[in-house]
Amino acid sequence: MAEILMSIEHIYKTFSVKQGAFQKLSFHAVNDVSLHITQGKVYGLVGESGCGKSTLASTILQLTQPTSGRILYRGMEVDAHTPAAMKAMRKDLQLIFQDPFASIDPKMKIRDVVMEPMRTHKIYKTRQECYQRACELMEICGMSAADLERYPHEFSGGQRQRISIARVLGMDPKLIIADESTAALDVSVQAQILNLFKQLQKDFDLTMIFISHDLNVIKHISDRIIVMYMGSVIELADKEYAYHEPKHPYTQALISAVPNPDPFQEKKRIILSGELPRFSNLPTGCPFHPRCPQCMDICRREKPALRNLRKGQKVACHLYDGHTY
Ligand code: SF4
Repeated sequence: MAEILMSIEHIYKTFSVKQGAFQKLSFHAVNDVSLHITQGKVYGLVGESGCGKSTLASTILQLTQPTSGRILYRGMEVDAHTPAAMKAMRKDLQLIFQDPFASIDPKMKIRDVVMEPMRTHKIYKTRQECYQRACELMEICGMSAADLERYPHEFSGGQRQRISIARVLGMDPKLIIADESTAALDVSVQAQILNLFKQLQKDFDLTMIFISHDLNVIKHISDRIIVMYMGSVIELADKEYAYHEPKHPYTQALISAVPNPDPFQEKKRIILSGELPRFSNLPTGCPFHPRCPQCMDICRREKPALRNLRKGQKVACHLYDGHTY
């Protein structure tokens, strides 16, 4: 049986904003999220911009502390009070951004960009060993060892993404979270980087969480799909179920917008009315109810829990209260 790499249990991340001179308003950017992340699987995390995907990712990586709930990594609880466990976990869990070079000194040679995290975590005893590994990783990622002597501005967006993947692989990570990491690339380059991720996932038995608003990207790479809406997970399913039998009306609308590869097969597009609500002013009951074409009375009163619908598929929607497959 596949190993559970990480368990996320009832995680909340709450923020407060000032309202007027004396009042504060609190809201949950991550609202009672529980997930099991299985070793070697690729998860696609989807939802509209501002729905809490990146906050959830930061919380999983412990870049920001959850307000409540707990995270178990390989069965061990990790929090800020266990610095040694945190340090080991930080090495194992890595993040790739949309523009990973945004925070890197443009005057650094690529050699230092790739070797810096390996040196920080003292992965190799000597500088020579570290350099040797950097050369190997560049080649694994479709670059050359000679590129280590060049500077970031000499590379295209796709090449920079390859370099950032080499940098992250130097840590021998167990879980990589890629946050919109192909969003800024041309479609053809995007496909190359996705294929590289796929290959590396197999070769290194990586576990990945791929965050994207683009369902084509997610479909290409993921085994499991996590759909978020306003801080909550509203559907969780294997790719086949999520794309061919989505259950939540919001997932159905998202999937209906994915172009059909067969131009002769008609597909009905579900157009949602209204916009994403503000976190500070969430509707009562199901947060999706003002936009839901199938809203019922109960939806305005009670927030649906995320329930097992069938093996591998969970949904938070009153339409399936009492349903089993
Ligand atoms: Fe729509 Fe109700 Fe389901 Fe929410 S609970 S998605 S409002 S049917």
